[in-house]
Amino acid sequence: FDMFVLAFVERIFRPTYKRDDIVLGKKLGEGSFGMVYRASLGKKQSSKDGEIVLKKATEYGAVEIWMNERVRRACANSCADFMYGFLENSPKKGAEYWLIWKFEGESTLADLLQSKEFPYNVEAMILGEVQDLPKGMERENRIIQTIMRQLLFALDGLHSTGIVHRDIKPQNVIFSEDSRTFKIIDLGAAADLRVGINYIPKEFLLDPRYAAPEQYIMSTQTPSAPSAPVATALSPVLWQLNLPDRFDIYSTGLIYLQMAFPSLRTDNALIQFNRQLKRCDYDLIAWRKTVEPRASPELRRGFELLDLDGGIGWQLLTSMVRYKARQRISAKAALAHPYFVREGLLALSFMQ
Ligand code: ADP
Ligand code: MG
Repeated sequence: FDMFVLAFVERIFRPTYKRDDIVLGKKLGEGSFGMVYRASLGKKQSSKDGEIVLKKATEYGAVEIWMNERVRRACANSCADFMYGFLENSPKKGAEYWLIWKFEGESTLADLLQSKEFPYNVEAMILGEVQDLPKGMERENRIIQTIMRQLLFALDGLHSTGIVHRDIKPQNVIFSEDSRTFKIIDLGAAADLRVGINYIPKEFLLDPRYAAPEQYIMSTQTPSAPSAPVATALSPVLWQLNLPDRFDIYSTGLIYLQMAFPSLRTDNALIQFNRQLKRCDYDLIAWRKTVEPRASPELRRGFELLDLDGGIGWQLLTSMVRYKARQRISAKAALAHPYFVREGLLALSFMQ
């Protein structure tokens, strides 16, 4: 009943927007399923929500609005602040879904990873000021650890809500300047398994660079989308059986890998890494054995970073990037991993 009242009150008091309220700015992205613009709310802007991001989406826009509404209610801090979504009928283009979010900031994790300064460029953003401490590997490790903690925290929120993102990659992680944390964006390929929305995996939506080896999130024994009421009854069981959340964990593991190894940050290098890993039957330990003996100093440095504190980072990485979903760690368990816990007290004094 409380939920009902809350939803009702929100429906009355939450601002709504229409086409004419939105002043388009520069294009931020263009995919096969829609366009993304920076924009502002002309007359309708209140003091804070003037700067927005607008996505004009095709048929998948409906699912994306649904996912964002759900996140807004259940795990608001995990994703960019969703403001409103509506169906717009344009005379030229026909039906389009328009989605608006608060503009969270200029940089995605992909942008930040491209910088030679990484991870120090992020440290400045998280802390607000660059501190004049020595810049060694321990320090880099600490910053990467903070990013991983924030990412896994956001992911745990989504997964606890029953949502699998399915397109976790640095381009879909935005730095929120207000909260000084990383948030997840782009729920266009997400699936909500508890109510059966976007239940059939659209594998063509998945980004092959970051996708786990299993192409399908759900086993092939559940090929058709049950109607919502049936799915509500079934899906917690399916969730347990298939662990679809571990798809996102694999992708997050690849992000960790790219943070640790500068030489794996380009698309080509990542694609090549994926090929090597496949040849090793997705066994990271085997991969390490093949590349380490003839590794460049840069690659060696990555291993050294992961080997800090008795190799606890390497241990976390290898528990995320595994062939079998069942053997991958969950977001919640990862947050309790010694990689984060052991440094807990120190980390507290270092960063929030
Ligand atoms: P798609 O990948 O389908 O084009 P995204 O939702 O990933 O759409 O958005 C495209 C780009 O727009 C992102 O990579 C990011 O740079 C930017 N962007 C999206 N949402 C926000 C936001 N809330 N705040 C700031 N930038 C955003
Ligand atoms: Mg995207």
